[in-house]
Amino acid sequence: MEEARRLDADDDLAGFRERFHIPASPSGADSVYLCGNSLGLQPRDTETIVAALLEDWRRYGVDGHFRGEHPWMPYHEQFAEPLAILTGARTAEVVCMNTLTVNLHLMMVSFYQPTAERYRLMIEKPAFPSDRYAAESQVRYHGLDPADALIEVGPRDGESTIREEDILETIEAAGESIALVMLPGVQYYSGQCFDMGTITAAARTRGCRVGWDLAHAVGNVSLSLHDWGADFAIWCNYKYLNGGPGAIGGCFVHERHAHDSGLPRFAGWWGHDKATRFRMGPEFAPSPGAEGWQLSNPPIFSMAPLIPALDLFVEAGMDRLTTKSRRLTGWLEELLKARLSDDIEILTPASPERRGCQLSLRLRAGRDVFERLTAAGVIVDWREPDVIRAAPVPLYNSFEDVCRFVAQLEEATS
Ligand SMILES: *Cc1c(COP(=O)(O)O)cnc(C)c1O
Repeated sequence: MEEARRLDADDDLAGFRERFHIPASPSGADSVYLCGNSLGLQPRDTETIVAALLEDWRRYGVDGHFRGEHPWMPYHEQFAEPLAILTGARTAEVVCMNTLTVNLHLMMVSFYQPTAERYRLMIEKPAFPSDRYAAESQVRYHGLDPADALIEVGPRDGESTIREEDILETIEAAGESIALVMLPGVQYYSGQCFDMGTITAAARTRGCRVGWDLAHAVGNVSLSLHDWGADFAIWCNYKYLNGGPGAIGGCFVHERHAHDSGLPRFAGWWGHDKATRFRMGPEFAPSPGAEGWQLSNPPIFSMAPLIPALDLFVEAGMDRLTTKSRRLTGWLEELLKARLSDDIEILTPASPERRGCQLSLRLRAGRDVFERLTAAGVIVDWREPDVIRAAPVPLYNSFEDVCRFVAQLEEATS
């Protein structure tokens, strides 16, 4: 614990922890919250922003679209800059809208356009269920048979992560028949981070469209979507980004599609060119850029918490966050190896380049270890059949959290 305190004293981001509400453990002390990969914690400023929104609505009624500190009409526009910073995009390439799975479908409407020769959709295995359901349902929607049209690349027998060479070889071998490659930036179960630049380039060379699911990547690893050249990306804002349960999702569409009004898309009035939206004409003319994929006027209450949440990220900066993240997770790994190597197996890659902050731990004992941790005020999550995911996030977790987690895990497995 002394070592942890010394590392915390050395941490220039340590002050950010106080700007979050840390849930209490059964004993009343701060819990050890290592679950930011599932639902990020509430920033202390969130309440003020939401209260101000209620106040604007109370005071202005419909005029709140144009009045108050954050008028609702252009409300979504304020997120373009922070999201562009976090995803390595241009501001016109990103937008907040809908939720992740909805955005994935909207993106597949535009970027999964099977033809007789090029009709396959490549995903990872096992993919997050929602992504797989979405992919399979899109394949079926086009009248195709998933057994042939859905390519799933998974770990080799006996391995826990996917070899990138297997992804690249599949793209090389089947590329001409693949319409879309859709993979996670960071795999939710194993915590494996893929080389998004290399995979995107390889797939594009073979003429495939490329989309990334960044649910576990945004706010966790550094991203360069524009330079990598991905066609689209989608993510949720409630995991590492702390936007609150069910928060509005995010979407990236590469600049090269910004003015392509010939792309098939499902349209709605909020995607219509802003200059003429309120002429309410019958013909759809998309806004240039990612905004052109919006459907409805946005749910302001599900966006408001993003204001303080994204501000914190911009203030801390992804460079400093990833530096701390590597130290924090590296230290967790070191302690686990030294003290628990007989009880757990770390599934996540050991290379800091190939992971974010999450470590996925396979337990030799069963689920009761997880129950004991919960009772002791350690919040991690359990994934069937035998895995605990622990994610020390650099924004609000401390080295002391890591130390307490390892101590409790030792106790729970003994
Ligand atoms: C969290 C997560 C989702 C959640 O989808 P919602 O539409 O926001 O409910 C989907 N896919 C992946 C890979 C996730 O990690």
